[in-house]
Amino acid sequence: VIVSVTSSTNNEFCSKDEKSCFEEHNKYSRELNDWSLKIKEQINTAINEYVPCKVENCSCHKSLIDEDLAPFKGGITKELFDRARAKATKYQIIDGKLYREEECHFPARCAGVEHYLVAIAAKMPNLELALNTRDWPQMNRAWGHPKAPVLSFSKTKDYYDIMYPAWSFWEGGPAISLYPTGIGRWDKHRISISKSAEKWSWEKKESKAFFRGSRTSDERDALVLLSRAEPDLVDAQYTKNQAWKSDMDTLYAPPASEVPFEEHCKYKYLFNYRGVAASFRFKHLFLCKSLVFHVGDQWLEFFYPSLKPWVHYIPISPRASQEDIKKLINFFKEHDDLANEIAHRGFQHIWDHLTDKDVKCYWRKLLKKYAKLVTYDVVKDNNLKLIY
Ligand code: UDP
Repeated sequence: VIVSVTSSTNNEFCSKDEKSCFEEHNKYSRELNDWSLKIKEQINTAINEYVPCKVENCSCHKSLIDEDLAPFKGGITKELFDRARAKATKYQIIDGKLYREEECHFPARCAGVEHYLVAIAAKMPNLELALNTRDWPQMNRAWGHPKAPVLSFSKTKDYYDIMYPAWSFWEGGPAISLYPTGIGRWDKHRISISKSAEKWSWEKKESKAFFRGSRTSDERDALVLLSRAEPDLVDAQYTKNQAWKSDMDTLYAPPASEVPFEEHCKYKYLFNYRGVAASFRFKHLFLCKSLVFHVGDQWLEFFYPSLKPWVHYIPISPRASQEDIKKLINFFKEHDDLANEIAHRGFQHIWDHLTDKDVKCYWRKLLKKYAKLVTYDVVKDNNLKLIY
């Protein structure tokens, strides 16, 4: 018997003489009640334990710098740097000026990073960096890679890579038809998406889960399949990306049109998934003041650890079945005030602690701490070109 997860009475499901149906339904209701209580307990505990950070000097994120640099606390030697350099683009800051090797795999990504490096270079000690602009990190201790100080935008705890704020805060983000030069300019998106959130206040939003994106990871399949089975509960569809060849790449359905971030604000529940590494969409979703469901906790960007599950967003396992996802959405449909509260807290956290100033501040603190660990004299490399 498939029983609805809403608090319906037995008579809606069983006729009078169906004793086993009553028993089964009662058992299901009890289990659902227990599960509901557990979710509420988890939320209460998380909120009670949560200590908000001060709104100053990227204070929310700076503990991550020490964590990422911990493997290098014995010093960054020339040998360690050379190992990292082989995996990445070489940059130097010498006498307050920024230099880069001619070759860059992704020029728009380098440009996005350089926007921040140029802004902070004047006050930096001389240093050199191995900066990886690929989608994925490089030095995986679980795969036996040796340690090396490669800077990457995203990683899991298995990697030695040191996280830096992604290029896409400024430019070089993935280009989709809506954003042909890359999703870019976080400072502008903060304004336009939060304006849309004003228009789509909580009461006006549709009580529906929403996701739009390409199939960069099959972890997204469960939600897309749930959407096909229950279109009134979920609208989750696959779009094309550059690798798209046939409907197979959109899970045997024609690709959906892309939807701008501002239009995500129409919906109460927004889903985030990893892609190849962390997906850039996560931070944008919070700006809608919708409730963010974040699937998986392995792939990080520098600001992820400051966001707390149940406090700012709803965590979901990547192994969650369609039924598990449905249960969780329905829970928040039935606890609308709670959903609204968490959505607001998530918005406020990103609004207060992920400004363009915070991004610059993180870069500054990261590079200052990095420079202190360097054990060799950084000598100007004449093969590099002056950026600014
Ligand atoms: N995107 C969007 N609207 C869409 C599809 C994608 O704004 O309809 C954005 C999405 O939020 C992400 C980027 O484009 O920041 C790439 O999304 P995709 O799902 O293709 O890959 P991901 O980077 O999430 O793995």
